[in-house]
Parts: sequence; C-alpha cells; structure tokens
Amino acid sequence: MKVAVYPGSFDPITNGHLDIIARALEVFDRLVVAVLANPRKAPLLGVEERMDVIRRSISDAGMGERVSVDSFDGLTVAFAQARSARSIVRGLRAISDFETELQLAHTNRRLAPGVDTVFFMAAVEHGYVSSSLVKEIAQFGGEIGEMVPPAAEAALRRALGGRSAADVAEQPSPRVR
Ligand code: ADP
Repeated sequence: MKVAVYPGSFDPITNGHLDIIARALEVFDRLVVAVLANPRKAPLLGVEERMDVIRRSISDAGMGERVSVDSFDGLTVAFAQARSARSIVRGLRAISDFETELQLAHTNRRLAPGVDTVFFMAAVEHGYVSSSLVKEIAQFGGEIGEMVPPAAEAALRRALGGRSAADVAEQPSPRVR
C-alpha cells in the first residue's frame, strides 16, 4: 500500500491544499495530512482547531475515506517513517516555493534516503492562494469564500472576533461613532 504524508502548517487549510490532497489521492492509497504543531510562524489557529477544520473540509469534499489527519512535532521524515510512509507530498506555487522546497527535499532525503518528496504543481486557479494571504484579507473584513472551504472561513471569523466584510461595511465611520 502506498502511503504518503502531506505536512504543513494549514493555518488554515485552503482550497489550494484541498486540491493537492485530491490529486495526491490519485497517486497514493492513503494520505496522512500532518499538521505541524510547533511551526516557526506563530499560528493563528491552535493545532486541534486546524486539525478539526481539515477533517471537516475533507469530509465535506467527500474525501474522508483514505485520508487521516494528525499532528506532529519534530522531523517530518521521522513522522513519515513512523507512519510507514515512503513519500512526502508538497505543493509548488511559484519559484519562491521552489527554492525552499528544493533545500527541504534534499535535506530530508539525506536524513532518510527511503523517504522521497513528491511535488504537485499548484492548480492555476489556486496558485495565488496562501494561508497568510487569506488571514490578512479576513483580518480586514475581505471576502475569502473562494479561497478556503467553509469550515476554514468559519474558524477564521471566530478567531478574528466574528468580523465579516458586511460587518466592516456596516460599521459607522469614526466621526459619527
Ligand atoms: P508550510 O508552513 O509547511 O509551508 P503550508 O500550510 O503553508 O505549510 O503549506 C503546506 C504545503 O502546501 C506546502 O508544500 C505549500 O507549498 C503547499 N501549498 C500551500 N498553498 C498552496 C496552494 N494554494 N496550492 C498548492 N499548494 C499549496
């Protein structure tokens, strides 16, 4: 059975991530989506909430059966080996992704020659989407419905205090408050 691990911050999961999951399922029998519990970037959503959002989004997309969601801390290759996965899945959006991903893939291969990294090119329609961009737009009340699944949008709204584009538009200007 071909098992792969798809590691990332997923803060939150986006439609770009979901597209990679769907495509990885065409290649692998099982996929473990692995949420990095202690990333260098300070996450907005806690690890349990990120996992919960991923689980609901995957199930809403009808992909639950061959996907599991877990968290990990430490080396990705160690997590992959513990799950008997011989592949790590990553997505590539732009040249800027390539530089860091190349370095990561070489390092991981060095650490664990039995674990290889498989890359999927981001879909044209999701290539511009990133979790950080989505958070920034949501923070200022912008529309993110096309970029993230509903569970992620709801989690972001909760984390940001329930603000929505409509709420922001309805707020009185500072002068009339
Ligand atoms: P990390 O902090 O490990 O980069 P991310 O959650 O940002 O975690 O991304 C996880 C993986 O998904 C990375 O390989 C990233 O390049 C890929 N990815 C992120 N956004 C997209 C997208 N819109 N389309 C395709 N792949 C993506």
